[in-house]
Amino acid sequence: ITNPVCDDPRAEIARLRHAIETMRSQVDSMISSAAKNASLEQREILETYRMLANSRGWLQRIESHIGSGLSAEASVEKEQSEARARMAQVPDPFLRYRLHDLDDLSYRLLRILTGKGQGELAEIPENPVLVARHIGPGELLQYGRGLRGIVLEEGSVGSHATIIARAMAIPLLVHVDGILTEALNGDPVFVDGDSGSVFLRPDDETIAALRGKISMRVEARQRYSRLRDKPATTLDGVTISLLMNAGVMTDLPNLGSSGAEGVGLFRTELRFLAARNIPKRDSLTREYEHILDSALGKPVMFRTLDIGSDKVLAYFNREDEPNPAMGWRAIRIGLDRKFVLRMQLQALVRGAKERALHVMFPMVAEMDEYFDAREHLMDVVNRERNRGLVVPEDVKIGAMLETPSMAFANDRFFESVDFISIGGNDLKQFFFAADRQNERVRGRYDTLSLSYLGFIEHVVTRCARFGTSVSYCGESAGKPLEAIGLAATGIRRLSMRAASIGPVKNLLRQINLSSVHQAIKRSRERGEQSARQSILEAIGPCVTPESIS
Ligand code: PEP
Ligand code: MG
Repeated sequence: ITNPVCDDPRAEIARLRHAIETMRSQVDSMISSAAKNASLEQREILETYRMLANSRGWLQRIESHIGSGLSAEASVEKEQSEARARMAQVPDPFLRYRLHDLDDLSYRLLRILTGKGQGELAEIPENPVLVARHIGPGELLQYGRGLRGIVLEEGSVGSHATIIARAMAIPLLVHVDGILTEALNGDPVFVDGDSGSVFLRPDDETIAALRGKISMRVEARQRYSRLRDKPATTLDGVTISLLMNAGVMTDLPNLGSSGAEGVGLFRTELRFLAARNIPKRDSLTREYEHILDSALGKPVMFRTLDIGSDKVLAYFNREDEPNPAMGWRAIRIGLDRKFVLRMQLQALVRGAKERALHVMFPMVAEMDEYFDAREHLMDVVNRERNRGLVVPEDVKIGAMLETPSMAFANDRFFESVDFISIGGNDLKQFFFAADRQNERVRGRYDTLSLSYLGFIEHVVTRCARFGTSVSYCGESAGKPLEAIGLAATGIRRLSMRAASIGPVKNLLRQINLSSVHQAIKRSRERGEQSARQSILEAIGPCVTPESIS
């Protein structure tokens, strides 16, 4: 806003009323086109939005700010910040949520008043850094890889939007207090994801230092790429398979360039999150076929649709839940809405054609959920075969272990499952009862905590008894120090974002796994909480800040 004050309140009020009229008709036409396909619940939400847009109280408050000498734009902004302060006190989460609507309406009004940013993409400059209060995984996918950085006033390191940003190699910072008030459209900004710093309007000296840092990064990446075709074998001869996590087609070229042995986790829901409607079976079939073509014979573990929690599909009827991370999500939705699960399984079977197919089910909390889902897959394969269609030569069916309950499942589960993939992001949140999306609690608990490592060891031992393959695909697998800690528990397959394979392999090749194992044992005997310090001491000479960052 370049004109905070006004000389002629009457003219300013007329300008405001005209903008309000434009905004209301925009809202009306937006709602009438959206309402056609909306559920009752969605229509109610849209109606509330329309009521807010027509609120007389809101208009009167803005006009009173104009009366005190502010311009229309400044008055809208003043009312917006006062509304935020008022709403922050409201205990009812439903009413607090309406603040987002009010925010949205204020921005809409500001765009009309200032005449800026009304066309789609009008505000997206070259090399854009997005500054926002919060971003969901679907919105992030819609922006795509074009973003150079994201700075959020809220957000969380454990959220799916953050994981997607990491996978797309977009640096993202969370909890940057005051950035929305400090940063102006068009400001130069540097985002340093390594140190978690944002440099707003940096001076020349800072720019030079940051450029130096960037070239060091490029050199490190070149060093790692020289390791691409070398195995991740420790000095004492233990080889760890390193696989990559993927979720969109454009991740696939990284399979060759990173040296990954395959895709240990393919998050199929990202395709659904980026779409406006539920994708059709035939288009999914073509995509899965293309993914396997691009993998050139390397295995791809497709995880079936893992929605719910923070992965909300706008077109899928969503129920408000008090605690969505522990709510109706993942395989629970799959088993309750079988048509979606079976449609996806059919697309996977058809896309694989005669090739091997690996499918795993997310958030299995009881073994019967796995058995039911497995039954659906086998049934889909049999039906395809009976219809004379080509079916995969080998179907391997796995489960994600993301709840502590599964570590104590009956032997029958470990015997029957073809492979297990430990989803450490969710497992850790349930193990420590610490919401992965809540920054205040998420970081308090260490992956290298002895209780967590002991738990992973227990899972590895149970899998070993039945010769069941087990891998770890949470974000910790991509952190070098955590990766060697996990390897010391007996995990021999780690799946991580492609860019982490180099740094993890680099450290694994420099250490003795038996000394890491000893360090964990010593730490346990000393009665410590976390083995981190002990592991760091054991591998001391191999460690530079770069090798463990
Ligand atoms: C996990 O929970 O560790 C996992 C890999 O799944 P997501 O992060 O997609 O929930
Ligand atoms: Mg998970």
